[in-house]
Amino acid sequence: MFEKILIANRGEIALRIQRACREMGIKTVVVHSEADADAKYVKLADESVCIGPAPSHLSYLNIPAIISAAEVTDAQAIHPGYGFLSENADFSERVEKCGFVFIGPRAETIRLMGDKVSAKIAMTKAGVPCVPGVEGALPDNPAEVIKIARSIGYPVIIKASGGGGGRGMRVVHTEAALLNAVTMTKAEAQAAFNNPTVYMEKYLENPRHIEFQVLADQHGNAVYLGERDCSMQRRNQKVMEEAPAPLLNARLRNKIGERCAEACRKIGYRGAGTFEFLYENGEFFFIEMNTRVQVEHPVTEMITGIDIVQQQILIAAGEKLAFRQRDIQFRGHAIECRINAEHPYKFTPSPGRITSWHAPGGPGIRVDSHAYNNYYVPPHYDSMIGKVIAYGDTREQAMARMRTALSEMAVEGIETNIALHRDLLLDAAFMSGGTSIHYLEERLAKHNKDK
Ligand code: ADP
Repeated sequence: MFEKILIANRGEIALRIQRACREMGIKTVVVHSEADADAKYVKLADESVCIGPAPSHLSYLNIPAIISAAEVTDAQAIHPGYGFLSENADFSERVEKCGFVFIGPRAETIRLMGDKVSAKIAMTKAGVPCVPGVEGALPDNPAEVIKIARSIGYPVIIKASGGGGGRGMRVVHTEAALLNAVTMTKAEAQAAFNNPTVYMEKYLENPRHIEFQVLADQHGNAVYLGERDCSMQRRNQKVMEEAPAPLLNARLRNKIGERCAEACRKIGYRGAGTFEFLYENGEFFFIEMNTRVQVEHPVTEMITGIDIVQQQILIAAGEKLAFRQRDIQFRGHAIECRINAEHPYKFTPSPGRITSWHAPGGPGIRVDSHAYNNYYVPPHYDSMIGKVIAYGDTREQAMARMRTALSEMAVEGIETNIALHRDLLLDAAFMSGGTSIHYLEERLAKHNKDK
């Protein structure tokens, strides 16, 4: 096992990884920007290295600085967390070339899955159901583009192969708008992702977002840890997640989960990963794979009792998975609320000093946060300052515990979205379960109109 791991991230996930290491008796090195020098996990780390000024491209995305930090501290492995360099194949390649272990998949897997056209082809081959469309990139010939759209049937969506973060896609409802939409998406894709390749698929009008968590070791074993429903989104950003997905049939869960695990075996996947699907009318359609730990991983940990971050470390160290699919039991229900430093209804960021921080507790409540009394939320990064996770025997109990937790939670000095979560936990449609990816936006639009 590793003796020392370098954590190449910040915020709550840096603390989460540090806790996993500490429990395993592994020392941690934390790299940080000048803006994060006072962070809790920096103070708690065995060693810390400042790798540059506040802007991410000078610190958390600075590959040579991170690798030098690993060299001077004698770390053996690097955990990239999520965001930043976690899905950067060049980074993972450089890490391994310099003699460190990258805690994540091989560079070629990250590359394969980072390109959506190649990912979709690989998944179709591996038997994972994809959104209906045409395999491969869209051709240049306008007549062929029109033919493809007709064969799929409107509405269609044009997506950038190199896209991410909910950017680089355009919905087309009529043939008249098609060619212009393709040209514009290509230009945007070139500008934003330096790759003009686009593809076309059926636009699903009212789907839910349901994703499957997998773990695969380096010895050909792979399991799925069930699914998460992440349909509560604003601008393609998840706000609240839960596991299991409400109203999902167990046979279908097992069938899709098994397909995901099988796909991992086929592509020689290594580590933790997530298959994201749109789910509509009882059918699953793969949209993309995330080759890293996700923000919402705790809800899966709560219902399976498996520590996903520790599994990532064990797998990277070459260990075999200690359990088989039949050993994995799904028990109870878990909900996660992302706590952001932002206005609850206008969503304007609200960085600054937290003058008072009261985190909730009690049965079934878990708080993953790096914030504390008098912590200064820097304006340079993502606005998420923590996550509250509630576990219960049933979805109703998890919701009731979350309501209690959020009623106890008090954060002063900055604005947070806690009020929005409190409202959603009392929302009749959410409470019945199974709302689509458009539900939150529609509800927010109504909220703004009523005011
Ligand atoms: P990104 O990598 O940018 O997050 P995804 O492929 O995961 O891109 O898609 C992000 C979101 O865009 C999805 O969660 C969904 O809301 C919407 N979307 C993507 N493809 C489709 C589709 N075929 N039909 C309907 N909505 C889609």
